[in-house]
Amino acid sequence: MGRSVNYFFFENVFICHSLIKYIYYKIMNQSKIYDFLFKEVSILNGVGNKTIKLLKKKKIEKVSDLLWNFPHGFTDRSNLQTLDKLEIGKITTIKVKVVKYNFPRLRNLPSKVICEDEYGKIDIIFFNSREGYIRKILPLDTYVVISGKINYFKKKYQITNPAYIVSANKEDYVNKIIPKYSLTEGLTEKIYRKLIEQVLKKITNPKEWHNEDVLNKIGNVSWAQSIFNVHQDKENNFKSKFYKRLAYDEILANLLVLSQVRKKIKKFKKEKKKFNNYLSNQLIENFNFELTKNQTNVINEINSDLQSEYKMFRLLQGDVGSGKTIVSLIAAANVIKSNWQVALMAPTEILAKQHYNLACKLFKSTNIKISFLSGSSDSNEKKMIQKDLIDKKINFLIGTHALFQKNVQFKNLGLVIIDEQHKFGVRQRIELSKKGGRNCDILLMSATPIPRTLILAIYGDMDVSRLIEKPMYRKDIITLSKPEEKIDEILIFIKKQIKKGYQVFWVCPLIEESKKLDYSAAVEKYKYLMKNFTNKVGLIHGGLEKEEKNRMLNNFLNKSIDILVSTTVIEVGIDFPNANVIIIENSNKFGLSQLHQLRGRVGRGANQGTCILLYKKNLSENAKKRIKILKSSNDGFFIADEDMKLRGFGDVLGYKQSGIKDFKLADPIQHEDLFKIAGEDIKNIEDDEKNFKRYNFLLKLFDKADIINEINL
Ligand code: ADP
Ligand code: MG
Repeated sequence: MGRSVNYFFFENVFICHSLIKYIYYKIMNQSKIYDFLFKEVSILNGVGNKTIKLLKKKKIEKVSDLLWNFPHGFTDRSNLQTLDKLEIGKITTIKVKVVKYNFPRLRNLPSKVICEDEYGKIDIIFFNSREGYIRKILPLDTYVVISGKINYFKKKYQITNPAYIVSANKEDYVNKIIPKYSLTEGLTEKIYRKLIEQVLKKITNPKEWHNEDVLNKIGNVSWAQSIFNVHQDKENNFKSKFYKRLAYDEILANLLVLSQVRKKIKKFKKEKKKFNNYLSNQLIENFNFELTKNQTNVINEINSDLQSEYKMFRLLQGDVGSGKTIVSLIAAANVIKSNWQVALMAPTEILAKQHYNLACKLFKSTNIKISFLSGSSDSNEKKMIQKDLIDKKINFLIGTHALFQKNVQFKNLGLVIIDEQHKFGVRQRIELSKKGGRNCDILLMSATPIPRTLILAIYGDMDVSRLIEKPMYRKDIITLSKPEEKIDEILIFIKKQIKKGYQVFWVCPLIEESKKLDYSAAVEKYKYLMKNFTNKVGLIHGGLEKEEKNRMLNNFLNKSIDILVSTTVIEVGIDFPNANVIIIENSNKFGLSQLHQLRGRVGRGANQGTCILLYKKNLSENAKKRIKILKSSNDGFFIADEDMKLRGFGDVLGYKQSGIKDFKLADPIQHEDLFKIAGEDIKNIEDDEKNFKRYNFLLKLFDKADIINEINL
């Protein structure tokens, strides 16, 4: 009896011990597996320097990066076919017996292996394979499973260079449905699949980070399940619940980072700026126009940010011509009034100069000292400016990227304004917020119309003010479309306009966008117009030196030319109040948002603007639709939404060039619902800071974890 009690006792201890050990290993293994995902790809078998380089081309550096390169299709090898049922051209898997070799005497001729099953015969053809190798993989009289595309040649079925061969008894181990990956040259499918297989083998389910509610909304599938599925199941597509789960993960990871950044920045305390409305009222009175209600509201929003004890991190978003500059200059005046310095940066010299001129005009009656700095300022001048900044003899510095060089130091910078900032991603925004130091408020301005679905996912780290209203007097631009043959009518029209004293833009798209700029069409059009318009025509394109470009733009600004022919390089943001006609050739080549921005170049004064879209004959249905949308609306945000629907995300203006296309998997059109759910979800998460830890793995998966740590002032 005693013995059995003892035995029972020991057995139990033993079981308990094993259980604890089991759980311990399970947890340990899990965390090891997840460490493994964040190691360099070089830890995988079969990855040497050459493969590392090739993978890098596809932006794959860590093991986890492999997972986001989803297959673009699958080859189904799951059905074995008998030789009487072959279909020419179809990828097929067969089980056959090797019966005869036929090796050529001459080099360069293919080797042939004749195989059969009970229903027929087939030739397996090899180019460039050695006899020894063929004998090894296809031993005589054995059964093999072979897969490849069926051809028919001289009345016989063949498979040439089969995709795979295994001996029939190993057949069970072979993947029957084979994923196809889009790869770069030199990286074969076979290599890639081997890597993916290594990774998939190690994956188990991590602890779920979404709560049940959200999971229910997005299809109730686990992370690991989803990963397996998208890589291995041929039924998969981006509407499947597995793909959606992963896309949701990605959207949320983006929102999490932005919301954390925002939270951190909002906690930064600064010295409040102290000013009253006296100066700005005085400035506003001096305008020859009234501010719109919308502008006044935005100015108030900015003022209360400036006066608060927390750092401002605000985006001013407004369509082209909505009057952002004035708003920012009033903010500048207030900050200067409260004894701080201000910097305003524009992306190009000519735009910066225009802001500078406007500011000089506006602040003429004040004692605010303004300077201009760009890369082409001469070195003595630069030194003077640097000195004056430190001595605070300059209150307001306007210029290009040169403002942010190391040797440009301010005495007490209180506000940085960045115009047309659509080329900034979240990392650069963080850099920027650090640069000015603790007491420096930040105002970004952008005319890039962001589709509504995306605002949170792209600018969730900032407060956003929007200028929706257009200045009162401004008439909507009239948009017309004409076939190219009617160019004579257009010439008559613009001659009339020029006679009235207006100016004209003539835009020719680049012919080969991918290759080096090809502006031959623009050059030709320039020559043609020169003949018709007594030489008062200018030309700018990407092949010109900067000085030459600036000279042309200035010629246009000071009206010594009437028509400016250009490729799309007309600088964003420059104000040409006297230009009121824009002709856009081959308008099908542009996206809707881009067309909208282009036409925003005209009609900026009080006069009626006209945009003429030229097209080649026989418009497609889609092209007609596009023209209709442009004709019917002057609202940049509406057009951005439509643009995205028509062309898909990624092509919309600003994304490709800007690097703000942060999504690998999610697609704002296909997954609009997911963006909405995430927008709700993030609010709950924000309120529940304690639980934030559970998203660590998710953030790491999408490379977001360290961004949050970068923001420290
Ligand atoms: P954007 O928002 O594209 O930067 P700008 O600030 O350059 O636009 O303004 C475009 C033009 O409209 C400028 O000539 C500017 O002086 C003028 N403007 C701005 N606000 C008003 C307003 N409330 N009423 C009339 N004109 C305005
Ligand atoms: Mg502007």
